Amino acid sequence: MSATRNLPTELDAVIVGAGFSGLYQLYKLRQLGMRVKVVEAGSDIGGTWYWNRYPGARCDVESMHYSYSFDPELEQEWEWTEKYPSQPEILAYIHHVADRHDLRKDVVLDTKVTSAHYDEDSALWTVRTEDGQEVGARYCIMAVGCLSVPKKPEVPGLERFRGDWYHTCDWPESGVDFTGRRVAVIGTGSSGIQAIPIIAQQASELTVFQRTPNFSLPTFNGPIDREMVADIKSRYRAIREESRQSGFGIAIEPPTRSALEVDPGERHRNYEERWQRGNLTGVLQAYTDLLADEEANETAAEFVRGKIREIVDDPDTAEKLCPKGYAFGTKRPCLDTGYYETFNADHVQLADLRETPLVEITEKGVRTSDREYEVDSLVLATGFDAMTGALLNIDIRGRGGQPLREKWQDGPALYLGLNPAGFPNLFTITGPGSPSVLSNMIVSIEQHVEWITDLVDHMRRGELRTVEATETAEKEWTDHVREVGDMTLYPKTDSWYMGANVPGKPRLLMAYLGGVGPYWQKCQEVAANDYEGFALS
Ligand code: FAD
Repeated sequence: MSATRNLPTELDAVIVGAGFSGLYQLYKLRQLGMRVKVVEAGSDIGGTWYWNRYPGARCDVESMHYSYSFDPELEQEWEWTEKYPSQPEILAYIHHVADRHDLRKDVVLDTKVTSAHYDEDSALWTVRTEDGQEVGARYCIMAVGCLSVPKKPEVPGLERFRGDWYHTCDWPESGVDFTGRRVAVIGTGSSGIQAIPIIAQQASELTVFQRTPNFSLPTFNGPIDREMVADIKSRYRAIREESRQSGFGIAIEPPTRSALEVDPGERHRNYEERWQRGNLTGVLQAYTDLLADEEANETAAEFVRGKIREIVDDPDTAEKLCPKGYAFGTKRPCLDTGYYETFNADHVQLADLRETPLVEITEKGVRTSDREYEVDSLVLATGFDAMTGALLNIDIRGRGGQPLREKWQDGPALYLGLNPAGFPNLFTITGPGSPSVLSNMIVSIEQHVEWITDLVDHMRRGELRTVEATETAEKEWTDHVREVGDMTLYPKTDSWYMGANVPGKPRLLMAYLGGVGPYWQKCQEVAANDYEGFALS
C-alpha cells in the first residue's frame, strides 16, 4: 500500500491511473530523474485486474505474451501457471513488478482526479482531486484505461431490487457465493461469457439475458505447457520484437490467401485446425480478407455458428445463441471455457431480449416484455463506456480553457492517439486513434510509454517547455484513422469499438486498424523527423 494519500503541490509529471500503463510510465519517468506521482481512484494498483474480480475473469491473450517486456530478467524469472492467466494471477504479477521496482511509494491510492486544467502563462497543468487536493505539473499523462468506466444499465429500477446485485467490473474483493441462489446475468459480452459457466456451477437457477449474441471460441485453457515456456523464453527477445512489428501485437504468421480462393473443404479443415488452437487470432487470422469482405467473413462466421449448433443440445437455444447480422470479429470476439455447454444444463435458461426486450428491474427480479423473472441475485455484465469514457469523466481543459468534452463532442480527435491539439504536454496512453483495444494491449502500452518518455527526455535536454500536436497533423491523422477503418467491416457493426453501446455517444471507430507494427513505425518516423506534426517550444 502507498504510505500516503497526499499529493505534493508541485511535480514534474502527474500520471492518472495505476494499471499496466501508469505503473510503467512511472518507472520510465523516474529513470529520467523526474518527480512523478501516479494518482489512482482504486484502493490498490492493478487497474483492470484490480477491478474485474468476477468469477472466471481471465485474459484472452496467452500468458507468455500478456506481460511486460521491458525487464528481460523478470520475463525469464516469472512463471505463469496457465495457458491463459486468470485475474488473480495477473494481479499478483502486477504486484510483483511494483515491488520489484519499488513503484508503490509513488502511487497515491483512493484518490480520484476530477479535473486537469492547463495554464498558458506558466505552461503547467493543475490537476485536482475529488478530496480537494491540487498539484501543478509540467506533464499530465492519462493512463486512465480504455475499459475502466462501467456502462450504466439502460433499464430502470435497479434501486428497487431487493436482492443483491453486482457489476462484473466492481466485484467484491471477498467474492460472492451464489450457491443455492436464483441468479440473473444481464449481458453476454466477454465478462458475461467468462462468468456464466462458473456462476452456473453454483446457482440453483441461472437466467442469462442476452441482447446480442457474441462469437465465442474455446480457450482449451489448462496448465501451461512447460516445453512451450522453455522455447519462448529461449527466444523471448526476438518474439517481443516480432510482436511489436505485428498486426495485433502478437507474433503470428500473417495470412496470405483470401478465404474465397480456397475450396470449402480445405477452408473448413483450416478453420477446424485453428479452432483447436484455442485462441482469438486463429480463426480470425486464417485468411487475409475476413475483416474486410462480407462474403469471406461469412465463411468463418458460419463455421463458428456450426460449432454452436453442435455444442448446444436444444436447437432453439442454439439458434438464439448464434450471432447473425454482423461480421465475425467486428465486435470483440470472446474466448470461453464451457460457455455454450452451460446452456445444456437443466437449471440454465436463455432469455432472448431481441424477442422479448428488457423492461425494468423490479423488486423481485427482471421484467421483460413477456414475463417477470424472480431472482435472488443480479449480475450486470453490461460493459464499458470504452476508450473515451474515463478521459471525458475528467474535466480536462487545454489552451484558452477549452474543455476536451467540447473538442470531442463529435468524437475523439488526437494526433497519433497520443495528444489532442490544443492540450500541450498532455498524453493519453492507448488513446483513441492508436491500435489500443485492437491489439495485445501490453505491447501498445509499452510502445506509448516509451515514446512519451523519449519525447519528455528530448524536451528536457532541449530545455523546451511545451509540445502539442498541430491542428493539421491531428486532422490528417484522424482522417487517416477513419479511412483505414472504412476499408474494413468494423464500422458496419454496432459495437463498443464504435461507441454504439452507449446511447448518445458519437458513432465512429475509435481504434486504429493500420496494425501495431506500421503504427509504431509511423511514431518512430515522427520522432526521427524532429517530432513532425508537433509544435515544440
Ligand atoms: P486500466 O488497467 O484500466 O487502469 C486504469 C486505471 O485508471 C484504473 O485503475 C482506474 O481506476 C484509474 N482511473 C481512471 N480514471 C481515473 C481518475 N479520474 N482518477 C484516478 N484514477 C482513475 N487487454 C488485452 O490486451 N487482452 C485481454 O485479453 C484483455 N482482457 C480484458 C478483460 C477485461 C475484463 C477487461 C476489462 C479488459 C481487458 N483487456 C485486455 C484490456 C485491459 O484493460 C488492458 O490490457 C490493460 O490492463 C489496460 O491497462 P491500463 O493501465 O491502460 O488501464
